Amino acid sequence: MLPTLRQRISPIKMIKKERRLIIAGNWKMNKTVAEALALVNGLKIEVGKVKELDIVVCPPFTALSEVSKAILDSNIRLGAQNMSENSFGAFTGEIAAGMLRELSVRHVILGHSERRQYQKESDELISKKALAAHATSLKPIVCVGETLAEREGGLTETVIETQVRGSLAGLSKEQMVETVVAYEPVWAIGTGKTATAAQAQEVHAFIRAILVSIFDDTVARRVRIQYGGSVKASNATELMALPDVDGALVGGAALDVRSFSDIIKNSIPN
Ligand code: PEP
Repeated sequence: MLPTLRQRISPIKMIKKERRLIIAGNWKMNKTVAEALALVNGLKIEVGKVKELDIVVCPPFTALSEVSKAILDSNIRLGAQNMSENSFGAFTGEIAAGMLRELSVRHVILGHSERRQYQKESDELISKKALAAHATSLKPIVCVGETLAEREGGLTETVIETQVRGSLAGLSKEQMVETVVAYEPVWAIGTGKTATAAQAQEVHAFIRAILVSIFDDTVARRVRIQYGGSVKASNATELMALPDVDGALVGGAALDVRSFSDIIKNSIPN
């Protein structure tokens, strides 16, 4: 049984410091190789030596190789935006986890709402990809989030629970602690509308309660849950201070050195 709403608000308030913040930039289908290098070289100057939190950039596949080399002497880590659930073979246009690892990619975004919407990715497929990622030592960032219609229809918790259980199906406890969950309300992505602190905390705590129910309290306490949806420098501090928010997945504001660096600087724990 999941806890009641009242129990879910900040169920494990004091454990914030157990989890290191992870701020990831999802560049989506933006940046040529030259533009990607300009962006990452600017980030290296601004935040390349930040040690207090994890910084991840997720360029398009075409820029991974060059960005991988460029960040070697920094604390910035590399992520990809998607991968195949298969490890090799006749899957035209697909990229396997092993190919990403070869480029020193450490994280991979799975089940972003744009892929759920445009490529019709299901929870079942996302869980296969998550298992394939772990089999190759890639750490998945698994995205979940409700649409505006679902929120307004009172379906937020049902949708989130279905996505969390389905997308993480089959993961072992060891794999789960190496998985990041990104809560991205679809109505907040690229719209300039951010979830309020109370809305974000409520869903994050709910996700953690689901993780307790699927795995156990120890696993749930260790899993990092990012918030995503119009994060910017001006709202990052408040969001990152929430007890169950352990980082951000940033879209639009990750495309510019100043705005992404400011998000990172404003998120550094005191
Ligand atoms: C995203 O697409 O993951 C995202 C959070 O985008 P934005 O920050 O632009 O809302």
